[in-house]
Amino acid sequence: MHLIVAEKNISARRIAEILAGGKKVAEKKDAGVSTYSFGDTTTVGLRGHVVEVDFEPGYENWRSETATPRSLIDAKTIKVPTEKRIVTLLQKLSRHADLVTIATDFDTEGELIGKEAFELVRAVNKTVKIDRARFSAITPQEIKTSFANTTDLDFALAEAGEARQSIDLMWGASLTRFISLAARRGGNNILSVGRVQSPTLSMIVDREKEIEKFVPKKYWQLALLTEKAGEQIEARHTNGRFKDQNIAELARDRTKEPLVVTEVREGTKQDRSPSPFDTTTYIVAAARLGFSAANSMRLAEELYMNGYISYPRTDNTVYPASLDLNGVLATIRNSPFKKDVEWTIAHRRPEPTRGKKSSTDHPPIHPTGVATKEGIGDDAFRIYELVLRRFLATLAPDALWQTLKVNFDACGEPYTTTGGHLLEPGWHQVYPFSEAKETILPTFAEKEKLPIHKVTLDEKETMPPARYTQSKLIQRMEELGLGTKSTRHEVIAKLVSRKYVEGNPLRPTLVGRVVTEALEHHSDAITKPDMTQMIESHMQQIKESKRSRDDVIKESRSMLHKAFDLLEANEQVIGDDIRDRTAEELNLGRCPVCGGMLAIKHLRGSTQFIGCSRYPECTFNIGLPVTQWGWAVRTDDICEKHQLHFVRLVRKGARPWDIGCPFCHHISSNTESLTEIPSMNEALLEKARSRHIYTVAEIAKSEPERLAKDLELAPDAAQILKSEAGGVLEKLRRRSECRKFMRNHLIPRKGRSYAKIMGTLKESGVTDLASLARASPAALQKAGISENEARDLLAEARLTYNGQVLKETGLPAVSLKKYLASGITGPDDFVSVPPEKLSAMTGMSPGTVNRHVALVCEYLHRPVPVKIPHARIEKGRKELLSIKGMTDPVAEKFAGAGVINGDNLLAADAQHISAATGIDAEKIRNFQLLMKKKRENAIIRI
Ligand SMILES: [Zn+2]
Ligand SMILES: [Zn+2]
Repeated sequence: MHLIVAEKNISARRIAEILAGGKKVAEKKDAGVSTYSFGDTTTVGLRGHVVEVDFEPGYENWRSETATPRSLIDAKTIKVPTEKRIVTLLQKLSRHADLVTIATDFDTEGELIGKEAFELVRAVNKTVKIDRARFSAITPQEIKTSFANTTDLDFALAEAGEARQSIDLMWGASLTRFISLAARRGGNNILSVGRVQSPTLSMIVDREKEIEKFVPKKYWQLALLTEKAGEQIEARHTNGRFKDQNIAELARDRTKEPLVVTEVREGTKQDRSPSPFDTTTYIVAAARLGFSAANSMRLAEELYMNGYISYPRTDNTVYPASLDLNGVLATIRNSPFKKDVEWTIAHRRPEPTRGKKSSTDHPPIHPTGVATKEGIGDDAFRIYELVLRRFLATLAPDALWQTLKVNFDACGEPYTTTGGHLLEPGWHQVYPFSEAKETILPTFAEKEKLPIHKVTLDEKETMPPARYTQSKLIQRMEELGLGTKSTRHEVIAKLVSRKYVEGNPLRPTLVGRVVTEALEHHSDAITKPDMTQMIESHMQQIKESKRSRDDVIKESRSMLHKAFDLLEANEQVIGDDIRDRTAEELNLGRCPVCGGMLAIKHLRGSTQFIGCSRYPECTFNIGLPVTQWGWAVRTDDICEKHQLHFVRLVRKGARPWDIGCPFCHHISSNTESLTEIPSMNEALLEKARSRHIYTVAEIAKSEPERLAKDLELAPDAAQILKSEAGGVLEKLRRRSECRKFMRNHLIPRKGRSYAKIMGTLKESGVTDLASLARASPAALQKAGISENEARDLLAEARLTYNGQVLKETGLPAVSLKKYLASGITGPDDFVSVPPEKLSAMTGMSPGTVNRHVALVCEYLHRPVPVKIPHARIEKGRKELLSIKGMTDPVAEKFAGAGVINGDNLLAADAQHISAATGIDAEKIRNFQLLMKKKRENAIIRI
């Protein structure tokens, strides 16, 4: 069998379809992983990396005395499967293969993924031939050519990728641990540091500092409005920016009619067609259409995988000679852009444009197939159109502008205006995404006199440098050699998800800034691009086989050790500095009770809340949903009434949940439950709030004397209020338990709201698990739950509720589990099933079962059944086992049905016992017969 290993499932399918050449391709699923077969060939897709590099066991504990952050630098690494099912299937297929072709993407990352597959195949099949197919587009022509000309895996290229992986792991893990531990952060809240990430973040922080430092300077601009041939025309003073207001005003005052045309200069300007797309220029162009860097890469990859465009990760801006431009044109002639393609063919420039970078791996990004909007969706189609039109533009002729510059004189003050007009649109004809605009001026003659309608002097200010947009940052990263074409957009996405930067244009958060500055102060090599650039050049040397992977890793280790020398010496200072400065970011404002500082607190696990800095003197606090709903952060908005920062819950991949002013939210969300207290009224509620009592729990936990004093109540009224609050609290607890149960057992659906379901159920009297267990299926259906769901939900509710009740009886949890597993789910079962049977069903001793039955009976206020002594049970069992053919399991089954000795057996109705035990009635009758004979024999013997 010929096994072909592709980088992704979708490319595996495409490759199979292309190579099958019209033959039927059979898709098969094995443990959820698809394979595609035709003839003797099978293709399978990986999911990018199916193994990951990790430290060998022993480094898991962050707080270990021996496995310190620094020790990670020299720690041995291992490869761990991350996609077990794919790995298993790949190895299963490899055992029977007589040729394996690696067909992963053609670049460093793809070569490394290919090497990983190579090693997995070799581990189970020592002899199979493994070759490599390289292609830049998943099109019939490219795929067929590449499979007809396979080569060997490029191990040097893969090793460069491996070295990068190891270095990134060692840098990221050791520094992240060091900084997080120094700042005493853990769990969700760690501070990540990375080899490319930190210098990138540092650039964003530096830009922000420049903006803050920037002192705007005033300047003045002078312009006039004239008219020619009924058209209003603006002309600017040739001085440009006036720095001195007086001089600008003098120039304005001197500007008087007549306005005389002193010079008309006509010319033409060549407007070169743009060069082919590499990854960076593509991302920049897509950003102009409103796509984020990550989004534009995702869409481009999708288009590549489906054969619509070539491989989108490329540094090349020169079409290689091998690229069949005519072939591409012929293909896209069938696209929805036929007219533009034909125009380009008719006006084609002799040679396509070329950019500055030429590399041999992939051609510039270009279209390879025909896509339609209906077929791929709006966004993907806009990207496809962009790539296709850019390709056409690189083949289209230069544009020609006619330029016009007109100079004027107004009583000695010089003014000027310019216009531009597309004489030959050239590439603009097919590429409407450029910013060039026409300004068409009327014709002027020298010495011509014109009116002045208006003279304006504008006061302006110099602007600070702009923040980086994602695409600008990617360009800058490329200039500095930070990251690679494949990783730059991922680095930025990471900075956003780690809450180091926000917005677009990008702005550092306080944490992002504090961590960067701490690193800069103590070991600036980590935040400077130099080290990263050096490592990139080492990668290049590995690719060219000039240096070994191990040698490069060794050098990186020693660089990192030097950084640690500086960091460890200042651990305390770094940690304190980060802690002090980031605390600010969690502060919300003054505590309404004591004037201390309210702040968001994140505890270990998923608990978060808002507490007061004067705790334990001040116990005011506001609960927040657990972090699964989102990590609580403050926003810049401030509540006008309470002067507190708003709070927002942010979660990766979800829309943020805005809580708004936490105090307003606290008051309003507790109003309903407070009014459930029977003796609560409007006036009392007001009074309670004025005494900073906002929740039912606060009332339930107060001392009655204190409550009486605070709320000016009689002692017995306070006592009643307190106990009523206790009741409401219990009700709330049960309600929330019931809601949680619903959430766990009803599948979320579009439009399904658990709050709404609970609301409808409340009308039918269902407010907690007990009432839910007793509810009618009709009541559930009224709340929008389907018949099947209602049946399952009720069964589940009964099970859970009965389990809870049984627990309340005092049954040990271990035993309870055994009962539930045997189908004994409620207290009633204990009374209706005989203890011997319980014992037989659960495998617990009759003594234990008797004790449990007694507990349940007590709980139900029922008489406890008479115990059967253990000795008697054992004796009966022995007697039963003495019958020929009787076995332990059968005796157990008999005991379960209440047959525990010979007497029972002889007295029993065979039909009845058969129904209870599942043992054939005939067999039971036979046992009875044998028993009878045995007894008779015994009598004779006497
Ligand atoms: Zn307080
Ligand atoms: Zn408020």
